[in-house]
Amino acid sequence: MTSTNIQYTTTTTSTTSTTDIITPLERVGAHSHIHGLGLNDLLEALPENESNLVGQPTARRAMGLVFKMIQQGQLGGRAVLLAGPPSTGKTALAMGLSQEIGEAVPFVHLSASQVFSRDLSKTEALTQAVRRAMGIQIVEETEVLEGEVVEIQIDSFAGDNKGKKAGKLTLCTTDMETIYDLGHKMLEMLRTEQISAGDVIRIDKGTGQIRKLGRSFTRSRDYDAVSSTTKFVPTPEGEIQKRQTITHMVSLHEIDVINSRQQGFLALFAGDTGEIRQEIRDQIDVKVAEWKEEGRATLVPGVLFLDEVHMLDMECFSFLNRALESEWAPFVVMATNRGLSKIRGTDYISAHGIPVDLLDRLMIISTQPYSVDELRQILQVRCTEEQVEMTPTALELLTRIASETALRYAMHLITMSQLQAERKKRSIVELEDVELCYQLYYDVKRSTKLLMEYQNQFLF
Ligand code: ATP
Repeated sequence: MTSTNIQYTTTTTSTTSTTDIITPLERVGAHSHIHGLGLNDLLEALPENESNLVGQPTARRAMGLVFKMIQQGQLGGRAVLLAGPPSTGKTALAMGLSQEIGEAVPFVHLSASQVFSRDLSKTEALTQAVRRAMGIQIVEETEVLEGEVVEIQIDSFAGDNKGKKAGKLTLCTTDMETIYDLGHKMLEMLRTEQISAGDVIRIDKGTGQIRKLGRSFTRSRDYDAVSSTTKFVPTPEGEIQKRQTITHMVSLHEIDVINSRQQGFLALFAGDTGEIRQEIRDQIDVKVAEWKEEGRATLVPGVLFLDEVHMLDMECFSFLNRALESEWAPFVVMATNRGLSKIRGTDYISAHGIPVDLLDRLMIISTQPYSVDELRQILQVRCTEEQVEMTPTALELLTRIASETALRYAMHLITMSQLQAERKKRSIVELEDVELCYQLYYDVKRSTKLLMEYQNQFLF
């Protein structure tokens, strides 16, 4: 690959909303009730009835300032550490921040234990995360195809046709999200051999239905891998419009992958990123700097959220130290529930299990244990989110369980108790449902107690 031939996309698109299409941020599940930081214009915490985020006024305010900094693009090399006991809302606060910044700024969520994978070295996994959190907004002049029907031509397919060794793919659509969905659908059709190399297919954007039209007559070996040489196939319903200025949002990591894998863009669909050579990244950085110079690209530094940061070791911490010094660093939000503890892989004890020289760079935001009232409110919010109705006495018991065991455990009991109530043909969860589930499912404290009592009977 030469530095002059850096490709950043397979298609033209008129949208600006796509941020990270490889690992979309988890916005449902345990934190689906969080819709933002719940702050007013003065960055003060809104009252409980106006926000699903409960309590933690100081931490919320501090995160509000982080949000303002991100909005103003004052990011380079800054990092905060959310530190507090388990279940005090550190991840919830990070999710709240991601909701506030919206889709236009990349937000990457990585649990530190994910760094230790079998396929990638630790520093490669961190580098990919950092580069996923760096958005590039590319502006270009191009022709766009309008119309409800989108054609996709699978141009040249190498290998066993199973979708994994796709050589080239030409997409004609105006919407990046559609491409991602369609890419997946198409891979499935390739795997099940409903379509194969050289087929031209038509996709109805309305219904998402994929239909094979026939073989391609224009199949060419000259296409320069998946690239900006997007081929327009006008359909009866669509016409090529005049040239327009459009913008794409891609991450640095996406550009890395497209330019380092033989199957280019398809590697993103298949999740086949693998290790990427530094030489390629250097060339891409040079090219992106050129685009920036020419006014064709704007750097959009995003947010990298590193959860369980105490799981990282010395090598990873030194990497982060260096990464934060780089001109192109995202804003890093770290979280830990550890107090004084050993730095992984060493005998050194440090605050939060993080080396002092990195701690020195961090602004620390502390989260505090919840009061009983706050626990009740959070549990009530979760009941509403999960559409579970509960009698006041059942909620009271659940609140007591949360304060004596753990908030997360009490939250799990909500769903289980509802299932139990349904089994009894009741639509409202009652005290006895919560009681029963508390007996059926152990929390960590009771399980540990049991372990101590019967330790001899467990296997070693
Ligand atoms: P850990 O240290 O164990 O990772 P944590 O501090 O990251 O814990 P969370 O995962 O954010 O804790 O919280 C546990 C659950 O409680 C999540 O479902 C979260 O959304 C919810 N929660 C925590 N704090 C709040 C809050 N202040 N308002 C609303 N929900 C909250």
